[in-house]
Amino acid sequence: MNSNPATKIQISRRDFMKSTTIGAVTAVPLTAGLVQARADNHAEHGAWNEILTGHKIERIEFRSVNDRYPRLVGRNSGKGVHGYGGDRPALIVHTDRGAMGWGYAPGANKDQAHNLSNQFQDKPLTNLLNTATGIRDSVHKQLDFALHDLAGNILGIPVYKMLGDKGPDKVPTYSGMVYFDDIEPLDKPPGIEQVLFNAGADRAFGYRQMKIKVGRGRQWMEHGAGLTRDIEVTRELAKTYPDVTFLADANDGFSLQDTFDYLDGIGDVELLFMEEPFRENIDGFTKLRKYLKDSGKKTYIADGEADPNQRELDDLIARGLLDVHLTDTWGLGFTNWRRLLPSLEKRGVLTSPHTWGTRLKTVYTAHLAWGLGNTLTVEGVTCFSKDIDYSLYNPDQEGNLVKNDAPGFGLKLK
Ligand SMILES: [Mg+2]
Repeated sequence: MNSNPATKIQISRRDFMKSTTIGAVTAVPLTAGLVQARADNHAEHGAWNEILTGHKIERIEFRSVNDRYPRLVGRNSGKGVHGYGGDRPALIVHTDRGAMGWGYAPGANKDQAHNLSNQFQDKPLTNLLNTATGIRDSVHKQLDFALHDLAGNILGIPVYKMLGDKGPDKVPTYSGMVYFDDIEPLDKPPGIEQVLFNAGADRAFGYRQMKIKVGRGRQWMEHGAGLTRDIEVTRELAKTYPDVTFLADANDGFSLQDTFDYLDGIGDVELLFMEEPFRENIDGFTKLRKYLKDSGKKTYIADGEADPNQRELDDLIARGLLDVHLTDTWGLGFTNWRRLLPSLEKRGVLTSPHTWGTRLKTVYTAHLAWGLGNTLTVEGVTCFSKDIDYSLYNPDQEGNLVKNDAPGFGLKLK
């Protein structure tokens, strides 16, 4: 058995997406922190699991749920127009005693739901999930969210309580929807006013943090003009919305020098974090860390979203070069995040799991933050839905997501 955790967790996001089982769960090392957490809550989990064992899986259904953005989401440095959102795949799990839980399940379909039904029919729920640790290694990753929701519904507790309720009652959330709206459409670009207008809508919705997409010069504008626009957009946003904290994300579209030029150019605009300025590497991040220190900026370095190599990230952490760990909530998996988050806390690394694409992931990540703590901010993907009641998850007046008492993930299907 290999005892070096770094070699156990070399699994890219792409591998996770392709994986058909949750076998990858075992890839993230258990930590002393998690073992302690289990011991603390041993009696509670014992009682909860005893209740769950009285429920047997009756059937698993597929359904798609509507989830649309409030506006056209345009380009970032790496990708073209993102569109308006749309229907998302979900799995619904029913028990023989009439309980139900559901969750986002990318890649799921009717045939798969049928096969999962056959696989787990008449099995006690505890064969699939343990409240102390999450879904079992033999259970398909696509059931991770649905089974946590189901367990919470049966027990009458929110998922964050199952996780230990160790986080704050309120966690900041940021708008992740400030894209390159100044250049959309490319042949008739509206200019910076469009970005300011859209950010105003996000502020009205309740956000007091926003992440600005940068890196226009990677492919959509001439290099120098793109960098200048990134700087202008950032400065104008900060000037227009002085009560908003900004973050920036280049989707690996900057060079090291671009990063210095951008951070120099925005002057005294203090970003909460700089996300994926360029493909993470030790040499570049060492220089970026030195730059931030020398210039007196308090901006955190955030990475680990795009094709994360957990071994590389582990190495950056060991060298003190990663402040905020961003790997995707679905990509890594909810159960895997339950394991990883406490170990990051012990190493002094904050988290802000990537949620872009659907507001469902914003909700799941809020429960990680409320349940386990150590979360800097939760990425908000503003969506409205004719199928999902998101009303418990609107930001409060200070721009926070606030704990609620609804069982499971607190998302009613309409
Ligand atoms: Mg990103």
